[in-house]
Amino acid sequence: DPQLNQHYTFDNFIEGECNRLARSAGYAVASKPGGTSFNPLMVYGGVGLGKTHLAQAIGNEIKRNLPDKLVIYVSCEKFCQQFVDSLKNNTINDFVNFYQAMDVIIMDDVHNFAGKERTQDIFFHIFNHLHQSNKQIILTSDKPPKDLAGLEERLLSRFKWGLSADIQAPDLETRMAILKKKMYTDGIELPDNVIEYVANQIDNSVRELEGAMVSLLAQATLNKKEIDLNLAKSMLKNFIKNTQKEISMDYIQKLVCDYFEVPVEMVKSKVRKREIVQARQISMYLAKNHTKTSLKSIGAFFGGRDHSTVIYACQTVEDLIETDKKFKSYVQDIQKKLKTN
Ligand code: ADP
Ligand code: MG
Repeated sequence: DPQLNQHYTFDNFIEGECNRLARSAGYAVASKPGGTSFNPLMVYGGVGLGKTHLAQAIGNEIKRNLPDKLVIYVSCEKFCQQFVDSLKNNTINDFVNFYQAMDVIIMDDVHNFAGKERTQDIFFHIFNHLHQSNKQIILTSDKPPKDLAGLEERLLSRFKWGLSADIQAPDLETRMAILKKKMYTDGIELPDNVIEYVANQIDNSVRELEGAMVSLLAQATLNKKEIDLNLAKSMLKNFIKNTQKEISMDYIQKLVCDYFEVPVEMVKSKVRKREIVQARQISMYLAKNHTKTSLKSIGAFFGGRDHSTVIYACQTVEDLIETDKKFKSYVQDIQKKLKTN
């Protein structure tokens, strides 16, 4: 199957706390496609955390065990494009028949269905047909079904039928294991302290983690040097600056104040108005999570408060993220801006 990429396997998918449920559900589905209650299996999580890898690994594992099964991997984007083309060429029947003939469909990044009503309709019918015949459906998405805005309710309700399993950002140990596995596959050796350094620097995306290592190796090869910790530090500086610009507390404060349209001085003041307190607490929370500043210094920065105030602020924000959808989306919006700027 040209759509499946042989390089993505279970074998080279490192298991960690961050992906344990998704991985084991994926493995169960791969061993018994259409024969578990995980239908559809929806894997969701942020960019670069391994959704495509895992989804492809399921497809490859099925082909390995059951070579006669018809397995199709398609990105949602490509599916939408194919649908538009089939409308143009009057080949909708062929399009639908092709997908309905599959034993397993893996559709990547279904959040891209947002706003595309006609394609969703077609997929709804294909989904029903496959599901009724106990064919396996595997989906990936950047959000859980309940947060997929712009998708039709009837399609979303189907997506919730089976199992939704998330992939989180990997912890340090898992990041190190991923780097080691990758080096092993590529036949490269790096000192442990270098691996640990790289894994420590990049904590939000496996793709960036791998990118950092590739960049490091490329520079070392060019300069014909052995990589030690000092060299790694100086070489990775640029990479980290480019991908994860250091976030300062000034910057966080400005971003949060702009977002809520409150004056910067207020946040540092003693004012206890609701929207000011909210901006202040979110700023502290972001400073704790996105800078290496101590709680004490964070408190000092935001108006000479002590570290217990910062702990309380972070706890409050975490609780609100859990209980208040709107609040959660505010924080996520700001976090996105933090990372893209
Ligand atoms: P996503 O689809 O979630 O954006 P990808 O599946 O494309 O992420 O993963 C990005 C890169 O990270 C790929 O090269 C993938 O092989 C690698 N990767 C992600 N998670 C793991 C893991 N648990 N073990 C090994 N490699 C991983
Ligand atoms: Mg992907």
